[in-house]
Amino acid sequence: MHEFALADAVMKAACRAARDAGMSRITSVTVRVGELQQIETALFEFSLSEVLPAGDPLLEGARFVVEAEPVRFHCRVCDLGFGRGDLEGEGTDDALEAMHFIPELCHAFLRCPRCGSPDFAVVAGRGVTISAVEGEDSPDAGPT
Ligand SMILES: [Zn+2]
Repeated sequence: MHEFALADAVMKAACRAARDAGMSRITSVTVRVGELQQIETALFEFSLSEVLPAGDPLLEGARFVVEAEPVRFHCRVCDLGFGRGDLEGEGTDDALEAMHFIPELCHAFLRCPRCGSPDFAVVAGRGVTISAVEGEDSPDAGPT
């Protein structure tokens, strides 16, 4: 139930951001989920939209948008930045699928498309970030 814990953390962070910005109600929260993040997107969306908003009046009627963040790599040897589209060859899709579950496997499966080195960093496509919180301002300022 990793997804529920994650959804809970996202909700709390969104509420904090909204309160800091003086919002009385959140209308939408956009969450970016890395392609390599080990979560079940459908379950995560369900957790966000169905289970959690009931916990906070700030979130009543809020819409959650889950966006996938494509994976990006950076070669430490030749300094090339590359993504899924730059990788080719048999097994690439299978490798990326395997990496979804065990991200550390990327170095076993993938090579830099320019110099062939396995020494690259994953620079995007991991983790979960809140990319936007939209809402309405409080008509009268200050907490109640
Ligand atoms: Zn390289």
